[in-house]
Order: sequence, then structure tokens, then C-alpha cells
Amino acid sequence: MTVELICVGTELLLGNIVNTNAAYLAEKCALLGLSMYYQSVVGDNPERLQELCETANKRSDLVILCGGLGPTQDDLTKETAARVMGRSLILDERAKEEIRVFFERIHREVTDNNWKQAMVPEGSIVLYNANGTAPGIIIEGEGTTMILLPGPPNELVPMFEEQVYPYLSKRKPEVICSKMLKICGVGESMAETRILDLIEKQTNPTIAPYAMTGEVHLRITAKADSPEQAFALIAPVEAELYRRFGDGIFTEEESETLEGAIAKLLKERKLTVSTAESCTGGLLSGRLVNVPGISEQFQEGYITYSNEAKEKLLGVSHSTLETFGAVSPETAREMAEGCCRAANTDLGVGITGIAGPDGGTAQKPVGLVYIGCCCKGTTYVEQFQFRGNRSKVRESAVANALTLLRKVILQEIRTV
Ligand code: ATP
Ligand code: MG
Repeated sequence: MTVELICVGTELLLGNIVNTNAAYLAEKCALLGLSMYYQSVVGDNPERLQELCETANKRSDLVILCGGLGPTQDDLTKETAARVMGRSLILDERAKEEIRVFFERIHREVTDNNWKQAMVPEGSIVLYNANGTAPGIIIEGEGTTMILLPGPPNELVPMFEEQVYPYLSKRKPEVICSKMLKICGVGESMAETRILDLIEKQTNPTIAPYAMTGEVHLRITAKADSPEQAFALIAPVEAELYRRFGDGIFTEEESETLEGAIAKLLKERKLTVSTAESCTGGLLSGRLVNVPGISEQFQEGYITYSNEAKEKLLGVSHSTLETFGAVSPETAREMAEGCCRAANTDLGVGITGIAGPDGGTAQKPVGLVYIGCCCKGTTYVEQFQFRGNRSKVRESAVANALTLLRKVILQEIRTV
């Protein structure tokens, strides 16, 4: 079933408000397995709205309109939709009563124009509004169904959840199920290259990649008559993605973060960790502390921005700093080992780099970052060359430090 969304409001066209309803409704429709092919925004203008409704009715099975259901002159969605569907407006007694009660509750007089909101297209399904006065409306036509929803999100969202979603799920026997795989340690383009053949031949299920700093999330989505059938379609694709990304997949849970997945591993293995940060200035420890209950695993975080601090707090040797510089694999190694020693933890992560915009040289350009991770006597050091501005470099450094930490923990698990 195809669906089309029309958001009504001049303030949307002017950029005075952000179209959060569109994002919300699009996501819900996708979950319902509806194919949304068009979204439009139109001002409070009856001719243009009518033209758009007529076009939408011709090409879509379902047309959702939001906004312009209110009591004022410029609210004309209902009148226009009724005209396009060839319905006249009649008084709905329950809507009228609810408007009366609503105004009584807020101790206001009902003004004449408010009664306009109790008028509904004949033969429509009325969606009563517990959070405002404008009811929503479903007009089931021959070919097309129109669903009219109020503009304010605090009215639209509950109305959709409680009334529209159940209505649409009943109309659609097909189900849509999805599975999430979150990957760390591969860039977006690399991830895409590795699954290009799968993406190119996909129809059902589909694979949708979503890139974040240092992570790529892959959502596998299948449509079928039942959840069992949908997951049966997903299973072979999932197995193939595991074959290609292996250990890089850190979670299948929608809400789990990379730091959350790492915290679980640390807990399972009863491992402790400390951090030593230079250019990231505490961002890494901030990510770890995002996880509730991390205190048994995360012991200490050092921000050692100056050379003196690296020497004083972490015991980085003066000659290392003199000979190789603060941004060097040697310093990253000594920072990781130093925090491990000072905090007496199983693991230590050290980050040193040039976040920019100044301070880069030909040998050590902006974006050069060394990350060290030591675990029970063995230290791994990786070199990175990140792109982007200061905050992007720092975020990338932290994401890759977490990835390295995870890799080292997994190695530790194997060797025990
Ligand atoms: P009202 O009864 O409040 O007039 P309405 O159904 O007529 O409701 P609009 O007048 O179009 O809706 O919008 C009312 C308010 O709802 C806007 O000022 C805005 O704050 C919010 N709103 C409208 N459309 C959207 C949208 N697409 N996304 C987010 N917020 C919206
Ligand atoms: Mg309005």
C-alpha cells in the first residue's frame, strides 16, 4: 500500500517551525510496511492545497494530511479534503460535546469559530482528540483513504499511536520486521563496498546502512505475511553479514551503544579499565561513564594535556617526549601503560593526537592520532589519520579508541 504525506502550514514553508511531524509519521509508516513515495509541504492556501490533494488522491492509496484542522480562518484542511472527496460537512454531536467539556476544563468561553471543529465530512471516522479540540478524521473513499491529523505534535502523536496505528495495522495484513546489526571499526564506504553485491540485488529483505562516527549500522528489513516468515527471510542475509563483518558486529540491540557493549564485556570478564587522554580531553571517559553501573569497571580517567602532566601523572618518560614528541606511538604506548600502572587496572587506553585546526606539520598533520591500549603486559598501538574539523577528529579518535579497547578485550577472552 502506498502512502503520501502532506503537511499544511505556511510557518513550515517559512522555516519558522521544524517539520517533526513528517519525520515521525514517515518512521511510523515504514514500521507499518507502507511505502511512502511522496512528502509535500504546502502553505495555508486553499487552491494549492486542493491541487495537491487531487494529485495525491490519484497516485496514492493513502494520503495523510497534518495541520490546519484548528478553528481559525487559515485552517482549511478539513474543508478542502471534504471537497476533494466529494463529502459535505455535518455536525458531530460527540465532537461538539468534547469541545464544550474541553473549554469548561480550561475555564474558557467557547468562541463561535470553535464549533467549526465539530463539523466532520459525512461518512467519515472521527478520531476524538484527548489533548486538544480538533478531532482527526479518516475519510475512506473508493480508491483512496485520507487521514487528517492535527498539527501540534502533542495532539498528533497520541492520536496516531492510539487510533491511527491500530487502524492501519488492521488494514494491512502484511507485517514488516527488521533486525539491526551495529558494526565498529569500519568506515562507511568500506562497509558499503563490502556489501555492495548484497545491496544491489536486494528486494526483500533490504539492507539499509546508516553511518555514524566510527560505526556503521545495518538494518535488515523484510516484509511477509507473518513475523516468522519475515525473520526467516532475514536469517540468511544476517548470516552472510556475520560472515563478512564477524567480530566487528558489536550488538544486535537497537538501543545498545558501543560503550554499552564494551561495558558488558568488561563485566563478564571482571576486567577494569583506566584512560589517559590528551587531545580528546575526557571525551573517552565521558563515553564510558554514559553507561550506568560502569563504576566497577572504569576506575580512573586522566586528562593529561601538557607534557608535564603526562610525565607527572602517567610517568611518561621525559626522553620519550623529547625524542619522539607528544604525538607519537611511543607516547601513546607509555600513556596507556602509565594509566594502567597508576590506576592499577587490567586495561589502559591512551590517546594522543593533533585535533587542529593549528599545530599540524608536514610530518605530523592535523588529524594524526595515536591510540595505545595495554592489557596485562601487552600493549597495542594504532595510528590514525582522521579528516574533518577539531570536534570530528576528537570524536573519531574516541570511537576508534573504543573499537581498539573492544578488540583487545576480545583477544583477552580468547587467550584465557
Ligand atoms: P491548531 O488547533 O493548534 O490551530 P492545527 O491542526 O490547525 O492546530 P496548525 O495550525 O497547522 O495545526 O499548527 C499548529 C501548531 O502545530 C504549529 O504552530 C506548530 O507548533 C505545530 N505544527 C504544525 N505542523 C507541524 C509539523 N508538521 N511538525 C511539527 N509541528 C507542527
Ligand atoms: Mg491552526
